[in-house]
Amino acid sequence: MDAHIFGVIPRPFISVVVPVYNEEGNIRPFLRRITQALGKVGTYEIIFCLDPCSDRTEEVIEEEIKRNPSVGMLVFSRRFGQPAATMAGIRRCNGEVCVVIDADLQDPPELIPVMYEKLQSGYDVVYAKRRSRKGETMAKLILSHIGYRVINAVSDVEIPRDTGDFRMMTRRVVEELKKLGESHGFLRGLVGFVGFSHASVEYDRRERLSGSGHYNRFMGSLKIGLNGLVGFSNFLLSISLIAGLVVASASFLLIIYIAVSKFYMKLAYPMGVPTIISLILFIGGVQLVSVGILGEYIGRIYDEVKRRPKYIVDREVNLKKKLSPLNKVRL
Ligand code: UDP
Ligand code: MG
Repeated sequence: MDAHIFGVIPRPFISVVVPVYNEEGNIRPFLRRITQALGKVGTYEIIFCLDPCSDRTEEVIEEEIKRNPSVGMLVFSRRFGQPAATMAGIRRCNGEVCVVIDADLQDPPELIPVMYEKLQSGYDVVYAKRRSRKGETMAKLILSHIGYRVINAVSDVEIPRDTGDFRMMTRRVVEELKKLGESHGFLRGLVGFVGFSHASVEYDRRERLSGSGHYNRFMGSLKIGLNGLVGFSNFLLSISLIAGLVVASASFLLIIYIAVSKFYMKLAYPMGVPTIISLILFIGGVQLVSVGILGEYIGRIYDEVKRRPKYIVDREVNLKKKLSPLNKVRL
């Protein structure tokens, strides 16, 4: 209260970061459920991070902000995508604890008090782990199942399986995340990189309440998965090196064998058109894959050296600026 008198707003205890793109039908049910859940945890702020929407999402949020002063919104100058939106919210949040959650109610807000209870038992990160996933195509399920296992087998950091961005983090994790300047914003990898103690709680992932998913079912997951693979491991670069070495040594041995058998054993070889074609195709394929892998890394290096902002904010609505210092106001 004292803090208010000097124009400093008390820091909310828990911040909720919600990336949003065309979620008109979901905002109100989402707010109804999440505010109820947050009431069990402490004071809160909800930061909607909006890629400019073609439906009425922005208006709906603005109406809700008028009703609830703990809700705020960031609107970007164009669609920067979910990872950038999420990172923007994380950078802007003020709470001692931060939760990232989707607006489509696929992640149940009721899990937040459960995650908080777990966090209190001494963890810095609590992931929500999907026990089951409704409303997903078979292709996406298979892809993400294989993807997680491949990423974890080769990645330098631990990226827990079957988790999304839905997670709760303490302030010190948020502060470390803010120091990372990478442009891909693959939150699962970045949080894994930051480390600290972590735990998970399980939940059943529902179908989205209203509207449809914003990603191409197949390519979307593939693109995100590639960030996990390329962004957090140099394994693919070693594969092309190993493949190159294996193919080159095998063909070297083959050449010696052919020379020996032709000149010493006097074997007359027939015209080997099919063999030659398949060998050329094979080597060509290996080379293209290797160049492609290099391209994935070079593309990311290019993204980093350009040092472009990861997002540009068009406008902010009701986001707190002058807040009491951290750890002082704990409600
Ligand atoms: N989203 C976003 N920008 C985008 C695409 C999605 O902010 O370009 C938001 C979306 O509104 C939702 C969350 O990110 O709150 C997850 O999106 P979606 O439900 O389409 O993905 P999925 O559930 O398949 O991961
Ligand atoms: Mg969704």
